[in-house]
Amino acid sequence: MTVSEARATFDDTKPHFDVLCSENTCVYSIVSALHFERLLRMDVAEVDTLEDTGWYKQLNALVPAMSFALDSSQRNSKSALMSTRQTKEGGEDETARTEQLAQFEKKHFGVSPPLALCVADTDRVHEYVFEAARIPEVRGASALLERLNETEIACNVFIEQFSAPEQWIIYRGGGSLLAIVPASLQKSFQDAIEEYYPKRTLTATITVVTGPVPLKEICTNLGNWVDKFSYYLDIRKRQKLNVPHFQMLPYVEQCQLCGIRPAYKHYSSEETDVSEKLFVCDACLRKRQAWDKPEVTEWLKKYLNEHDSLKELYTQGVDIDKITWCNDLSEIGRTSNGYIAMIYGDGDDIGKVRKQLNSLKGFSEFAEGLKETTRHIVFHNLATYTNRVPFSQRRRDGSTHYHPFETITLGGDDLCIIVPAQGAMEIAAGMMREFAQAAKTEPRIQKPLQRLKHQHWGMSVGALICPDHFPIYYIYELVQELLKSAKQRMRKAVWKEPDASESYINFLILKGSAIPRTAIKDLTKDLYEIHSYSMPEEKQFLTERPYPFSKFEKLLQYARRLRQEGLLPTQLHAIARALYEEREQATFDLMMRLQRMPQACAHVFRELFFDETFLPGNQRYLFPWRQDADNQNKFSTVLLDVFELMEFLHHL
Ligand SMILES: [Zn+2]
Repeated sequence: MTVSEARATFDDTKPHFDVLCSENTCVYSIVSALHFERLLRMDVAEVDTLEDTGWYKQLNALVPAMSFALDSSQRNSKSALMSTRQTKEGGEDETARTEQLAQFEKKHFGVSPPLALCVADTDRVHEYVFEAARIPEVRGASALLERLNETEIACNVFIEQFSAPEQWIIYRGGGSLLAIVPASLQKSFQDAIEEYYPKRTLTATITVVTGPVPLKEICTNLGNWVDKFSYYLDIRKRQKLNVPHFQMLPYVEQCQLCGIRPAYKHYSSEETDVSEKLFVCDACLRKRQAWDKPEVTEWLKKYLNEHDSLKELYTQGVDIDKITWCNDLSEIGRTSNGYIAMIYGDGDDIGKVRKQLNSLKGFSEFAEGLKETTRHIVFHNLATYTNRVPFSQRRRDGSTHYHPFETITLGGDDLCIIVPAQGAMEIAAGMMREFAQAAKTEPRIQKPLQRLKHQHWGMSVGALICPDHFPIYYIYELVQELLKSAKQRMRKAVWKEPDASESYINFLILKGSAIPRTAIKDLTKDLYEIHSYSMPEEKQFLTERPYPFSKFEKLLQYARRLRQEGLLPTQLHAIARALYEEREQATFDLMMRLQRMPQACAHVFRELFFDETFLPGNQRYLFPWRQDADNQNKFSTVLLDVFELMEFLHHL
């Protein structure tokens, strides 16, 4: 039997499986893949003929064992964790059932496993997305990748090319994919998926790793296998030799959008009101054509329709269908005096949680829970802290307002958004808080976490506020660095104290139009490190970033209160300037200024002064400085950070 004949036969028998596994999609994925594999192997006479009615009977008999293994592996591993003695009954039962799976596999397929795991991940996503400097291409590129990941691979590769059921894909999102495929077809699936990306986008690629895995391992030990495959995936990514490349000859005109590839077509946008005619390359054209990102507008619409008060707050009475996307970053910056913010969040230790998910069901549920949580926290905070902005010019497509944000990546465990600077820090804090809360409120996340003792759960964040004319790729690079340092600090904290650990945030506010060319670490040193001339061994830092979430949230509160109490910009600048003096002089200056300050403001400072979060009780005499616990010569203060945050608070 050839592959296409196997497909046809498989199509005929599909209804049988639909009835057999109507309750459980995970069982369906495995049973249907097993059947497909059997059809294929009959061709090479590895298995007996199709007429053997025993096969369906056997398959029927296997379903209860499989459902049990798939659903109960979580419960059993939990009891196994609690006590090894407790597993007597459940353990024996489970052993019997996994044995049943192994026997079935051996009987019908011999020694080579019938099923293969297929793990895929998009390569260098952000290089592809931020290749062009303008927002419509960036948005289009991110929309294209999302579409490929969420729908096209399933529809065009799984269903159309292989007439395989969609259920073989266990999860997809955030550029990754996990699927179960018949072992004989693993290479074909690998090639088909890897070919599909460049075919659709010309320049984006994906790496796929496949390999046979025994049936009982898929049902009871999936997490470890996926972890192993992810490792192979990493190696294969590094070994990749063929990347799409376009020859640029000297007399060929460059694409006006990316400046990398030869241009081939004139393009003028009807929809986006960018009136100029552009000479562009095919890859950029494809991005441009996906500029409207309907998926995200649909999710946003759905979210707002489910949350009436937020919808009212966000749309302020404007018909939601009249709100579209903006044309460039300056439109986002327009609402914040020309400043924008990029926020990059990444779930901490998600791999570790995923590793101990043993069953298919657990896997797909966790992935779904995570995806929904990410979307929820993003839309909730965007709707709370931003609202639609009217266009300054009339648009041809009839829309009157635009969303003052961009969602670059949104899915899986990481997210990258661009928002107006005003309120950006509240958005970042809100997302961190809500992501951490998901461990208690989202059952699909709560369940696997309960089984891990001392597992830290949260999202680390890097956030950059800068003028809206900064090149987007540069903004992204800086944010990556900020996130990296936040993650490092988080890991250190988790290592020191696994129970009390929380996520960290690092932020940077760049003002002025010059684009700094140094790494974040050097930049922070330049901006916030003071050298003492009288005491050369002493080091003074005017910042304590990255902050753990609880501290960051408190800083925001102090910043808000100072603003509410009407701390004048002149006073603020005077104190900030004083902090750049040597430590003792700075303290003296600050005390003097506090004396002259209105009571209410001075009161907030006093509270900050008595706040154990920032100054341990025995160090109060050092106010506003805190002496480092490990280094006696290191002094730092959070005051300047409070002042910096004040400027970009949301106007609530
Ligand atoms: Zn181009």
